[in-house]
Amino acid sequence: MSNPSLLILPGDGIGPEVMAEVRKIIGWYGDKRGLVFDVSEDLVGGCAYDKHGTPLHDDTMAKAQEVDAVLLGAVGGPKYDNLDFSVKPERGLLRLRKEMDLYANLRPAQCFDALSDFSSLKKDVVAGLDIMIVRELTSGVYFGEPRGIIKEGNERVGINTQRYTESEIARVARSAFELARKRNNKVCSMEKANVMESGILWRDVVTEVHQAEYSDVELSHMYADAGAMQLTRWPKQFDVIVTDNLFGDLLSDLAAMLTGSLGMLPSASLGAPMENGRPKALYEPVHGSAPDIAGQGKANPIACILSFAMALRYSFDKGDEADRLEKAVEKVLADGLRTADLLGAEGVSPVSTSEMGDAIVAALDATL
Ligand code: NAD
Repeated sequence: MSNPSLLILPGDGIGPEVMAEVRKIIGWYGDKRGLVFDVSEDLVGGCAYDKHGTPLHDDTMAKAQEVDAVLLGAVGGPKYDNLDFSVKPERGLLRLRKEMDLYANLRPAQCFDALSDFSSLKKDVVAGLDIMIVRELTSGVYFGEPRGIIKEGNERVGINTQRYTESEIARVARSAFELARKRNNKVCSMEKANVMESGILWRDVVTEVHQAEYSDVELSHMYADAGAMQLTRWPKQFDVIVTDNLFGDLLSDLAAMLTGSLGMLPSASLGAPMENGRPKALYEPVHGSAPDIAGQGKANPIACILSFAMALRYSFDKGDEADRLEKAVEKVLADGLRTADLLGAEGVSPVSTSEMGDAIVAALDATL
């Protein structure tokens, strides 16, 4: 049987720096666990624009469709801020998500014990937190037509359209219910059914899918604005939250900060199963290209490393190896190692990006 295949797209800014640490981890799994990946690497974002005049070359898109999983660093940077909208670095990422039809974006918000003092919320509110936000990723207001800026009389009007079909809602709801069954069996669906027709349909379809296929899972509904409040008041009431593209964008960033730093947050974007049964999948840290610290060895590689752990779990059916990697990260944090973004007031000296990667590899070694 051939090795599982991975396409690595480091991207811009700190993307290549954090990805270099993931490559150490991938190498470790090959050497020490016999888990060898066929790894290829390509360009996305600003660096792809610099070389090809487009943020995602067609050949790269075709490769992404063929591999078992794509692992992406980050895209963007000030150098590209004034490019035409159609070739901005982020368009490369949006094209990947759209053409791979990655409709379910999984964003865990998990608070490692060693970092529970680091949240802006009280320790007892976040300690032990482990929730999963499932955001619909390929439809809704970011894609709906009509869109644009038009002229009406003497002024300009900006237009975007929130649009969801029943099948788009049903498939992401199924992803959330499936995940809940492997976790604490609870799903909270969030929309704005009080003011939006698309929200009324969302609530109806989630309820129908629940009744027909997942009545063993506990389902609740919440307006997304109330959900934002509850996430900061008592986030541990949630297990899996399922919501649309726009609300999911906001709520997952909010949940993210409960755990301390953007540098800690992984994500997975999953689509329909391929012929080999694996879902189409793209894994990436939640953070961007962090131009303010790029090239300085300050970036925290943990979000990208934990994204690879999600790949082990959701694409390669290696939940035990994903647990091993997460425990190695936990151990390094418990030992007090901190990149600069994780420093509190107490004056610990930060470790560099590569020192953090090396320490996680050493912690993996210690698990053997
Ligand atoms: P950002 O996530 O890049 O940075 C926000 C802040 O968090 C910065 O102070 C940064 O230094 C810090 N930070 C982020 N990741 C970190 C890490 N791993 N370690 C330590 N500190 C980290 O967001 P931004 O500044 O709003 O955007 C910068 C660029 O990234 C923009 O061009 C934006 O469009 C792009 N962006 C890309 C993605 C993506 O590739 N998925 C996501 C968000 C933003």
